[in-house]
Amino acid sequence: KIILGIETSCDETAVAIVRNGREIVSNVVASQIESHKRFGGVVPEIASRHHVEQITLVLEEAFDQAGMGWDDIDAIAVTEGPGLVGALLVGVNTAKALAFAKSKPLVGVHHIAGHIYANRLESEFTFPLLALIVSGGHTELVLMRGHGDYQVIGETRDDAAGEAYDKVARMLELPYPGGPHIDRLAASGEETIEFPRAWLEEGSYDFSFSGLKSSVINKIHNAKQRGEILKKEDIAASFQSSVVEVLTEKTFRAAEEFQVKQVIVAGGVAANQGLRRALEQKFSGTGTPLMIPPLKLCTDNAAMIAAAGTISYEKGNTAGLDLNASASLLLK
Ligand code: ATP
Ligand code: MG
Ligand code: FE
Repeated sequence: KIILGIETSCDETAVAIVRNGREIVSNVVASQIESHKRFGGVVPEIASRHHVEQITLVLEEAFDQAGMGWDDIDAIAVTEGPGLVGALLVGVNTAKALAFAKSKPLVGVHHIAGHIYANRLESEFTFPLLALIVSGGHTELVLMRGHGDYQVIGETRDDAAGEAYDKVARMLELPYPGGPHIDRLAASGEETIEFPRAWLEEGSYDFSFSGLKSSVINKIHNAKQRGEILKKEDIAASFQSSVVEVLTEKTFRAAEEFQVKQVIVAGGVAANQGLRRALEQKFSGTGTPLMIPPLKLCTDNAAMIAAAGTISYEKGNTAGLDLNASASLLLK
């Protein structure tokens, strides 16, 4: 089966063509980062407008790169949520118009299911599996007992991991998005500051990063008042160490409790070098294979949407032309 995927939930306009849910035929991403940078974050109205301007070009490019035409496409998969509603609507309406005009089945995809299925473009899944999703808007541990079967066993109670990275980066006056900059600084810094680790209640797989964020902000303010000099590298290293330790430890405990056969990592923060290294160390020698997608599949793209959509399509979970965008869609 050959599925066309469309993703416009945030600030990348993306279209991809994927064969059998596993093989990328083409994968085109137009990023808007440059347009949002000077505002220090994604501006929803600007994002929607860019999607409208880009979507047709990106669609044509995806067909060009694939050397394919509409006759080759079996179904259209589109991100229906969660995300910015105005941004999502561009993708959903494009997909509906194309499904109607070209008489193709339509499939709605949850954005996080997409991030998870990015891994399947690299290697086949073995169930039960545990997915750690760490992105700009999500921090979740999801247990999967089969394809398309998602059980959220833990999630953030406040900020997402990527959000915490971006907020701390802002305090350190680093450009948006700040995650990669903190990652780079952390590599040359020393863990000189003791920041809290939010383990929450015994046995909980939930996360919390707002206390850590406040702690970093207080530390910076206090140092300023006392005329103390804190190296940005050391703040980055100390902050990253707290985030990475909690993510790694909770993932490890959940993998043991649920006796999973595979652990996969997904979302933009999966690009983090410190996190990748800590997880690799923690799981090496445990017999539980750990999978982290290549950097370009960690961040938003449409190949992952087509990959997840393939499963829904094969299960017969297609949508009608009344498919709507949902800013706060639940993963189930
Ligand atoms: P969601 O998927 O939850 O809707 P999103 O699509 O905005 O949110 P992604 O594109 O998956 O999120 O990831 C973007 C986030 O990843 C940003 O917060 C960014 O700072 C963070 N990020 C990217 N690279 C790194 C890195 N090397 N270290 C830490 N964070 C990173
Ligand atoms: Mg993004
Ligand atoms: Fe995302």
